[in-house]
Amino acid sequence: MERSVYFDGWSPQTYCQHPSMPPRRLSMIDDLDEMGATMLVWAGLGGGSISLPYLEEEAYGAIPARFRHYGYVNDSEFISHSRARSIDLFAIVFESQAWEFPAEIVGGEVVAQNELRGVAPKSTVGLREFSSDTGPASWKSFRSYFPDGLTNSDGDDVVDLWEEVACRDLEGAPIHAHWVEVAVRDQDCYYADRNNPVWREYLKAVIRTQIDAGARGIQLDETDTPMSALRYGGCFCKDCVLEFRSYLLALAPNDLPEELAGVDLTTFDYRAWLLERGHKARENPRALPLYKHFSRSLQIAIARTFEELARFAKDYAASRGVQIRVGGNFYDLAPYWDPMVSHVDVLVTEMRETRFQQPWYFRHGVGLSRGKPLVAVENPYGGVTPLLLAKLQEGRARDLFRLTIFEASAMGANMSLPYGSWLGTEIKDSYWVPRDLVVETGQFLKQIDPLISNVSPHLTAVIFSVHSLIDNAIDSDQFADGDRWFPIVTQPDARPASYWESIESLSRSTRTFDVVVFPDEILRENDSVAQSLDRYDTVVLPDVWGVSSSQHAQLLEYLDRGGRIVVHGHYGTELANGEAERLLTHEGTTVIRSVDELPAEVPVDVIADLGELAAVSLHEIEDGVALHIVNYDYDEAQDRVRVRNNVNLGVSSQKRVTRATVHAPGRATVELPVTEISEGRWHVIVPEIASYAVVHLH
Ligand SMILES: [Zn+2]
Repeated sequence: MERSVYFDGWSPQTYCQHPSMPPRRLSMIDDLDEMGATMLVWAGLGGGSISLPYLEEEAYGAIPARFRHYGYVNDSEFISHSRARSIDLFAIVFESQAWEFPAEIVGGEVVAQNELRGVAPKSTVGLREFSSDTGPASWKSFRSYFPDGLTNSDGDDVVDLWEEVACRDLEGAPIHAHWVEVAVRDQDCYYADRNNPVWREYLKAVIRTQIDAGARGIQLDETDTPMSALRYGGCFCKDCVLEFRSYLLALAPNDLPEELAGVDLTTFDYRAWLLERGHKARENPRALPLYKHFSRSLQIAIARTFEELARFAKDYAASRGVQIRVGGNFYDLAPYWDPMVSHVDVLVTEMRETRFQQPWYFRHGVGLSRGKPLVAVENPYGGVTPLLLAKLQEGRARDLFRLTIFEASAMGANMSLPYGSWLGTEIKDSYWVPRDLVVETGQFLKQIDPLISNVSPHLTAVIFSVHSLIDNAIDSDQFADGDRWFPIVTQPDARPASYWESIESLSRSTRTFDVVVFPDEILRENDSVAQSLDRYDTVVLPDVWGVSSSQHAQLLEYLDRGGRIVVHGHYGTELANGEAERLLTHEGTTVIRSVDELPAEVPVDVIADLGELAAVSLHEIEDGVALHIVNYDYDEAQDRVRVRNNVNLGVSSQKRVTRATVHAPGRATVELPVTEISEGRWHVIVPEIASYAVVHLH
């Protein structure tokens, strides 16, 4: 499993200032090595969102002797030294950030940028100056990167790249990526739009520069642009209008919305059409006519343009004779990322909320990842990170920190160790954890690496139905900050969804499970689900109303081969009449009324009396099976997890177990007696479980 570090490297007690990370020093590599890092995310070469020459300065810029004295290196040197220590820096591609910064320039030389000094008249640097050749003297010309210039979808030469690539509200005003603008500075970050072919060409130039600078990992960030502009009311730029027109033209006549009867779609302009009907900028997009279709056109577009960039990165690297890996930030692992998973080597999740107990989130993520490594980082805007940092700074909460990391590995994923990582734009600090604690945590992950796997022997599968959940995710409060940007409109047509509730209920009941994805077949071809379901004793269908006929057929075959299905809520409501009944009335099907009934309906892989404040998972490993146990029973007064003693555990395993060892952070590895209580059921007593323990059944 990868061991990632969230390597913004932002300084303590200053703002986290996108998109260019602070200069790197050689001693940082020693830190990363001690932490056991194998890969770095949000880790460097982000300056392409300012300009390509700025990015090249990050990569190759000269370092004065005084800075050499302190081990400063440029990013290409840092990448090369890191690789020599088997640490892969993933260069970051900010796909929705287009920047302009305040600057002071004397004789073509930048004497202040972002943080001003008052030593020269204020001007600006960024994409606008780059494309008009009015930037600092050290910047090479725009045409030296794009000899034929760049041409937009209107056929016009691009003269102001910054204005060209911005997402636009209904009345044409640019939308800002407000979540990266530091409020106390005079910064402007436009929300850039990947539907715009000019921006895609520009991002490809960023990727080329990063690969040429030695990066062997490319991390595509903000991969849902421009769909997430819905958060600000939606983007209605010329390219989103074109995208929607193409979507409508591709619809079957029967699927065309009534509102468009008699409208000439070959010239249809959604923006003009809305304005004619009296709509104004920044209304709640969900209340606009044709919204469902507009949302769907964005779902299709983000999958296609993501693939274009991910493929470009691989192809360009191959043309230079090197192999790279592509990582995608799939934020909260919502359903619309599923088609993009096919095009990455590593999934990164920024999470929507970082909480103290959410093992089911990681089981969800491991399922969505389809065998690829899943790396998480904490989200400063949702959850406990600022609170945790405050406690760590007081010398407290070390067990709480350990839990945030070990929960992920216990569930078959990896939580990045923080190294000056992001705290948003309002907190004047970055996330640093005491060195001994991150080193100890990282070293333990390294020690148990052979015991971590994203393949399990679990007997229960829960179906994650993309089609059933995709609209709910996009129309949820996630795409609206309360009423900050537009009035709240509740979704009258929100569909029932018990997926998240179901997996939480299983986790809290010490049940183990895998998540199996049923793709939305318009966005991604169905894979051979039948084959992968056969190894499960029980398949859970939580409100899988949006099942395709082929997925339905596969479930029926699974039942006919002796499988068991547990249904909660709606099933197959879009199937032809009577079809769903065949599954619902099958002798292998159990229908439950409440999610509370679910844990009793699935097989017990691990027999344990641990209560709600624990979670377990089994990992298939080369030499047997590993049982991971996380203990969330934190005692606030004592500021540590309550240790559980003499814990009885029973494990189902078809493999013959001959001996058992237990691994726990800060403790010696101990041999345990193991007995077979019944056929394929193995029993051990673990003398002591603090925050985390891994029992290796050999
Ligand atoms: Zn747009």
